[in-house]
Amino acid sequence: MTLMSLKCDKDGQEFGSETALSMHLKDKHGITDAAEISKVTTNAKSTSHKLSSLIAKRKKLVLSVLIIAILALSISFLIPKSVSAQSVDGIQCNTLEGTIIHIHPHLSIIYNNLSLTVPAQIGIEGTCLYGLHTHDTSGKIHVESPVVVNYTLGEFFDIWNKTQPYDTLGILGSNSNSGENFFVVLKNSTISAYVDNVTYNGNYRNITLEDGEQIKLVIASK
Ligand SMILES: [Zn+2]
Ligand SMILES: [Zn+2]
Repeated sequence: MTLMSLKCDKDGQEFGSETALSMHLKDKHGITDAAEISKVTTNAKSTSHKLSSLIAKRKKLVLSVLIIAILALSISFLIPKSVSAQSVDGIQCNTLEGTIIHIHPHLSIIYNNLSLTVPAQIGIEGTCLYGLHTHDTSGKIHVESPVVVNYTLGEFFDIWNKTQPYDTLGILGSNSNSGENFFVVLKNSTISAYVDNVTYNGNYRNITLEDGEQIKLVIASK
């Protein structure tokens, strides 16, 4: 679209310049009077100006709508969605509990001769649950999976570390709400593991989670 086109008001033909329109007026319409030519070209120019400012206004409107749409879209990306929580060790956080496997090993932790309470709601974030989670503070680990697979204590600890690494129960510290990171403490401790009262030789993280199994970790700060 030529924004500056000038229209001849006698036959509607459009021209790119005032000179071209004057030539046309002379040739086609026999208008030679300078005053009349000037009147026609002035009219054409003001019409053309109105048209281009209208187009400019529309362009601004389209641009504002576009900017608003882009802003709305980026804001919607910034808001975290509770259902899209990241997977841990390839274990997904699903909105429904898996039903193909549903077993309950038990975990007890002794820290510096004190019994540490395993927090409730490990592996539960908003509306989604990881295949390994706790519902209460009894030490009962719920292994609920939509697929048949062997899970390990290490994977449970990784999910624990992601969903609530802090000792909100205050067992690690001497005060009632120490808020220490359990996994930082774990790194600087000596850990002995027992499965059904038998010493587990090897890394406690590799203990396979089985139904009814009693897992005991004895942690002592170095
Ligand atoms: Zn369960
Ligand atoms: Zn459950």
